Amino acid sequence: MAQWSNWSGRLRAEPASIVSVQDESQVVEAIASARRNGQRVGVAGACHSHSPLVRTEGVLVDITGLAGVIAVDPEAGSARIRAGTRISELGEPLRARGVALINQGDIDRQSLGGALATGTHGTGARLRNLSAGLLGARIALGDGRVVECSPDQEPELFQATRLNLGGLGVVTELTVAVRPAYRLRERLWLEDLDAVLDRIEPLIHATRHFEFFWMPGSQRAACKAIEETEDAPVYPLAEEGKRVAWSDQVLANERPDKHSEMEYSVPREQGPACFRQLAEMLQRDFPELAWPLEYRSLAEDDVWLSTAYERPTATLSVHQGIDAPDEPVFRACEALFKEFAGRPHWGKVHYRSGGELADLHPRWADWWRVRDAWDPEDRFLGPHLESLREARD
Ligand SMILES: Cc1cc2nc3c(=O)[nH]c(=O)nc-3n(C[C@H](O)[C@H](O)[C@H](O)COP(=O)(O)OP(=O)(O)OC[C@H]3O[C@@H](n4cnc5c(N)ncnc54)[C@H](O)[C@@H]3O)c2cc1C
Repeated sequence: MAQWSNWSGRLRAEPASIVSVQDESQVVEAIASARRNGQRVGVAGACHSHSPLVRTEGVLVDITGLAGVIAVDPEAGSARIRAGTRISELGEPLRARGVALINQGDIDRQSLGGALATGTHGTGARLRNLSAGLLGARIALGDGRVVECSPDQEPELFQATRLNLGGLGVVTELTVAVRPAYRLRERLWLEDLDAVLDRIEPLIHATRHFEFFWMPGSQRAACKAIEETEDAPVYPLAEEGKRVAWSDQVLANERPDKHSEMEYSVPREQGPACFRQLAEMLQRDFPELAWPLEYRSLAEDDVWLSTAYERPTATLSVHQGIDAPDEPVFRACEALFKEFAGRPHWGKVHYRSGGELADLHPRWADWWRVRDAWDPEDRFLGPHLESLREARD
C-alpha cells in the first residue's frame, strides 16, 4: 500500500501503488498494467482538490512529471502543453513566445490537467473558466488507445474532456487558448461591505478582474480590481496596494495556510442576496469562524459540467482552517446555497448526491453517456465519481 494525501492533508488514501510518469508511454504502460491486474486507475495532478476526486484504491498515476510547453502558435492563439505542467511553470515560457493564459485562478500551483478537469477559474465578468479555453486534448484511455480530440475530432469525447473529473482517462497533452502577453495593474482598497454589494454590477464591469474578500465580523470588504495596462512592471511585486506586472505575476497569490474550502456558483444577479444571507448566517451561527469569504465573477460558458454552464455567475467561497471542523459550517452554507440553485465547485467540498447534481447540470446525462462509452470497463471511475453515478440518466 502507498500513502496519499491532498494539499490540505484532510483527505487521505492508500492506493495499491503510485506511479510517477515522465512520458506518455509510461502512462500507457501504467494503464495496461492496471488492466492486467484488474485494478482501477486514478489520476493525480497537484492534489489541490478538496473533493475526494483523486482518492483511489487502485493505481494512482501521478502526472506532474509529464510537464512542459510543446508548441505555441501565437497567430492561432493556442499553446500545446503537457497536462502535468503546473500553471506556475507556464508564465515565463509562454511570455518568451509572446503569449499568456487568458485568465487563471487565485494560485498557480495546480497542474493544467487538474485545473481543467475541475473547471478551475479566476475572476472576471467577461472571462470564462479554464475548461472553456480548451481547444484540443490527447487522452490515454482504459483500453490502451491514445486518442486526440477537438471540436472536429471525436467531438463528444472533446466536450466531455473539457471538464472531465479524471473520469475518462489520463489526459497527456492539452491545447489551450492563449492571447498576446499582457501586463496588469492591481488596486486594493477597503470599502463598506453593503456599499460594495449595492454596486457590484458596475464594480465587476469596471475592470477586467474584480473580487473581494470579507472577514466575518468586519464591516468592510477587501476589494481587488485588476486592469490591463501598458505600463512597465513595478517591482518588487509585494508593494502594498499597487502592483504592475505581467499577468501571471499579478494573478497568482500565495496561500500558505492550510485550509479546506466550499465554493458555490450562483446566478450572477443573485450573488449579492446570497452573500448577504450567508454573511448573516455565519455571524449568527458560527461566530468563531476566522476565515474570509470570497466573491468572484465568471462569464457563462458551454462546457457540459461547468458551474457557469449557460449562466453568468457569481462564485462564493467559504474557507475553514484544517485545525477546526469544517463539516458543520459547510453543511449550513450548502443549505443556503441550495436555495439559490447553487452549483458546487468540482474541486472543493460539497455533500451533494448524483441526483441533485443531475438537476443542477443540464448536460449531466450527456457527460455520463460519453464517459461510459469511452471507459466501458470503468477503469477511471474512482469511488467519489462512482458514488455520484446513480443518477446519470
Ligand atoms: C490553495 C488553493 C487555491 C485554489 N484556488 C482556486 C481558484 O482560484 N479557482 C478555482 O477554480 N479553484 C481553485 N482551487 C481548486 C483547484 O484549482 C482545483 O481543485 C484543481 O483541480 C487542482 O488542480 P490539481 O492539479 O491539484 O488537480 P488534482 O486535485 O490533483 O486533481 C483534480 C482532478 O483532476 C483529475 N486530473 C488531474 N490531472 C489529470 C490528467 N492529466 N488527466 C485526467 N484527469 C486529471 C484528477 O483525477 C481529479 O479528478 C484552489 C485550491 C487550493 C488548495
